[in-house]
Amino acid sequence: MKKIDLHTHTDISDGSETPEAAVCLAKSLGLAAIAVTDHDTAAGVKRAKAEGEKCGVEVVSGIELGCGWHGSEVHMLGYGVDPDDRGLASVLDRIVRDRHERNVKMAKLLSDDGIEIDVAELERRHPGSVIGRPHFALCLVEAGIAESVKDAFNRFLDPGRKYYVRRHFLSLEEGAELIIAAGGRPVIAHPLQYKLSDEGMTELLEKAVSVGVCGLECRYSGYGEETVQRLLKLAADYGLCPTGGSDWHGSHKPHISMGSGEHGELCVPYDYLEALMKR
Ligand code: AMP
Ligand code: FE
Ligand code: FE
Ligand code: ZN
Repeated sequence: MKKIDLHTHTDISDGSETPEAAVCLAKSLGLAAIAVTDHDTAAGVKRAKAEGEKCGVEVVSGIELGCGWHGSEVHMLGYGVDPDDRGLASVLDRIVRDRHERNVKMAKLLSDDGIEIDVAELERRHPGSVIGRPHFALCLVEAGIAESVKDAFNRFLDPGRKYYVRRHFLSLEEGAELIIAAGGRPVIAHPLQYKLSDEGMTELLEKAVSVGVCGLECRYSGYGEETVQRLLKLAADYGLCPTGGSDWHGSHKPHISMGSGEHGELCVPYDYLEALMKR
């Protein structure tokens, strides 16, 4: 069976590796295809595609948008978006400006407590990348204030923690509309990460279908087979294509391996991609 990974991050957002290195890794792992799904940017897609053509890995253009949902955040993946789409570019520009303002606010809160993070320096160090909390987490680890990225989030950066600043989110409608207008297919990412009740999940999926979402990420790092079967049934009930991916971030999330997840539990068949792209 041909295996794929439809959820990966590069250093164009908060992954550790370049788009080229991500594609090379996919090749060395024997994956038939990967999608590059950076947070709020498709700027790595063309580089990944060029590398894919060189080494013989199918690269699917992708993006992951944070959308607001009942005071928290639901992630929407978009597959097949045109990275040059002007409507998409203009909204993403706005999101990056918004993120910049938020980063400045988080740095100010940290600075008030004597922890100095220079946003301008961060932006210089990661030119063209979408900078967010993961970069702050790495700074806190480097400064010896947190033990790991996870620890930095748990103690300082998660919602409800001292240095969390909420940013503006697109609505699910806006996210789906944007992805569809850019030629893509919207998919709800990692549905268990939102800790919804059964009723909450029903409400989310009904909303998702009503705004044009066409897929549900059923196979994901850490999701056991029982969970996967439950999600596959939900996807079928709502007429959604099942998708799957690891959410690989390179060394920034070292417990996650591209293509195979946390303990080899992840296996995403090529058929998922074919069915999704026919939608
Ligand atoms: P931001 O978009 O700047 O709010 O950062 C969100 C990103 O940070 C997510 O997409 C994850 O990659 C990462 N993240 C969020 N919460 C955690 C956590 N508890 N541990 C590790 N990484 C996290
Ligand atoms: Fe991330
Ligand atoms: Fe996500
Ligand atoms: Zn992701």
